[in-house]
This record gives sequence, structure tokens and C-alpha cells, in this order.
Amino acid sequence: MLTLEKFSIGVGDRFAHQAKAQLHACILARNAGADVVPVWNKSNREHSFIGSEPASVLAAAKDAVSALQWTGGWHVDADHIRLETVDRFLPHSDFFTLDVADSIGKPAATADVDAFLERHPELIGAIQIHKIATPFHTTRDEVRRIAEKFLLAVQDAGKIHRHIAAHKGAGNFIAEISMDETDSPQTPPELLVILAAIADEQIPVQTIAPKFTGRFNKGVDYVGDLVQFEKEFHDDLAVIAHAIARYGLPANLKLSVHSGSDKFSLYPIIHRLLPQFSAGLHIKTAGTTWLEELIGLAEADGDGLAFSKEIYIHALEHLDELTGPYATVIDIDPAKLPSASEVAAWTSAQFTGALRHDQSHPLFNPSFRQLLHVAFKLAAKQGQRYLDLLKTHEAVVARNVTENLFDRHLKPLFLGV
Ligand SMILES: [Zn+2]
Repeated sequence: MLTLEKFSIGVGDRFAHQAKAQLHACILARNAGADVVPVWNKSNREHSFIGSEPASVLAAAKDAVSALQWTGGWHVDADHIRLETVDRFLPHSDFFTLDVADSIGKPAATADVDAFLERHPELIGAIQIHKIATPFHTTRDEVRRIAEKFLLAVQDAGKIHRHIAAHKGAGNFIAEISMDETDSPQTPPELLVILAAIADEQIPVQTIAPKFTGRFNKGVDYVGDLVQFEKEFHDDLAVIAHAIARYGLPANLKLSVHSGSDKFSLYPIIHRLLPQFSAGLHIKTAGTTWLEELIGLAEADGDGLAFSKEIYIHALEHLDELTGPYATVIDIDPAKLPSASEVAAWTSAQFTGALRHDQSHPLFNPSFRQLLHVAFKLAAKQGQRYLDLLKTHEAVVARNVTENLFDRHLKPLFLGV
């Protein structure tokens, strides 16, 4: 069985030019004592925005692995796929994120819900879980309500999993189940019911992405109650350990945090909790590597800085069109967006200071950063001109990509510094 390593980081690389710089960050982590394997993730939606094909992600990953002589594990994630979008990924991925969030809340067949309740009397009443002080107390009606909400989604995951297994062979790929792109977070008792249903469906899930409490906006820090997050994350880890033993799920099953990138305030909490359960982690980042490309170009000055400014000024003109599809995952304050004429006069240091995610920097501007995060389509429209700039300024761009991943993500999460 293809096994996902204990610690893994999902990295996005929209324009497929930074795989080496990303892998370099994993090498720095390994040299510092943390084995974290890279998983290059790209969703169907992202491929269609950029106009790329799944084969390109595998090719870039293979090139990087051979160029840097990486001997550790690595994977290519068909991110957030569904039955209708999975096929083009089948030859090029060994990791599949089965996105069943759309089926949450849609009713499963009554007979299936009844059968689930009959099969799982242990889910009703007081449920004692190791390391959770107060047992969960559930009634039959509550468990029925949870099953009604999630059973169809789990059945959908089973369908997608069987479809992939029919093409790739059972055990030849890693399955993640994602439920994060939905309205309300799943509670730990709900996660327990979901895991029991996943075991019934015989999906060898190795990582699961629930929706956590709080806001996970793209490319900026967590907004929410840190105490509540810590309790929820702790209890999710306990529930997973319980479900592995009770339902025979894969022993390496772990949480996947679809972070939207840069959830710096959560990293110390996660780093503290994982060892208490000897738990692994998959941290999925969003496409912020693209922002490091813009930072690198701006740092290069000259034509690089001019290009980065041009993208921002263009983005400002298309503000509503660019931000509309991301309304639920970005919070831009239009009053905080600098004007086109201001930015046109900025130096390299002003541009990178506003964009780079250093919250202690006096020029850091989260609204500016979030707008540029969703502006990647404008660079995609520039096609070869953009790719040529990335090549010309490869060294400075790569340094920013590597430093961002290593210093701001891998270090606090896996090395605790
Ligand atoms: Zn997600």
C-alpha cells in the first residue's frame, strides 16, 4: 500500500516554475531535523484558470526531485476532485483529495441511515475517548441527525474512491477526504460519526480535512478564537486515534489542514499538540508561491518591479471581477488599498514591504496582499512574458519561495522555532 509519510506539506505552484525552490525548503527542514515530504497540489479549478494540464505538475515535480537528488517521498495531489473532474488526473497523480463538501446536508436514503444506526450502537450514549476529559454524550436522535447530514457525502467519497481504484489499482494511491469547503465546521463528535461511516464504506483514508472553527482566509493569518481552535484540534486528534483503533482505519490516518496558507497564529498550537498524540500532519497551503514570485520580481527591481506594479494596477481596475469568486475567503478593506499612482511611485522596498507576509513590518498591508493573491489570472494572461521574467530573475524569486516556505511555515510547524 502506498503510504503517506507522517509529516507532509501541500504546496501549490500555479505556474509550475518553483518546484525546485519548494523542494529546497524540504531539504533545509530535513537538514534541521524535520522530515517533511512535499505534495504538489493543484485543483481542477486552478488548472482551468491557468490553462494548465495535470501532466505539467508531475513533470515539474519529477524534474525537481531529480535535479536536487531528493531521496525522500513526494506526491502529486489531484486537489479537490469530484467524480466528474477526476479522470484527467488519473495518470498523473498518486494522491487524490476527494471533495465531498457539496453533498453535506443532502439526505442519504432513510434505509441507509437506519442501517448505520443499527451497525453503530457504540456511537450512542456516553463515549469515552482517551485524552478527552468529558465523555461525549449523544442520543440516538443526535447520531441520526449527524448521519443524515454526512452519510451521503461519505457514500460519494466511496464512489470516487472506487472509481480511482478501478483505474489505478487499490493501494496504489493515497486518499484524502475533504469537507472543508462548506458553511459550518464539523465538531469532534461529528468527526467520529464521519470516520465510522468512512470505515463502513471501506475507504482507506490516510488524511482527512475537516472544516475547523474560525476564518481561513487566503494568504493571511487565522481570524478566530485560538482557545476554541486548540480545544477542537486536540479533540479531533483524540477522535482520530480512537477511530483508528475502533474501526480499523489506516494507522497513519492524520488531519489535513487546508490552511489557505499563512495561519501563523495556529502553528505553535499545532506544533504543541501533535506530539501528545504521536500524530502526523498534512498542511495544505494555497497558491501563495505566486506571491513570492511577485515579491522576487519586485525585489529584482527594473523590469521585474515594473511588472509587479503593473499587475497590481491592473488588479485595482478589475477589483470586483477578481475578488467576487473568493468573497467567502478574503477580507479586503478597499479603503486600505493604495492608489495606482501611489504604487507607480513605489520603490522595490516599498512594494516588497507591503506584500511580504511579515506582520511586524510597518509597511505590511493585508488588503494589498489579498488582492494580489487573487490576481494570478492577470499574470496567466501575460503568458510567456511572465514566464520569461521568472526565468530571468530565477535566483531572487527562488530565494523568496524557499525562505517563505522554510522560515515561515516548516520551522514553526515542524521544528517549533
Ligand atoms: Zn480545501
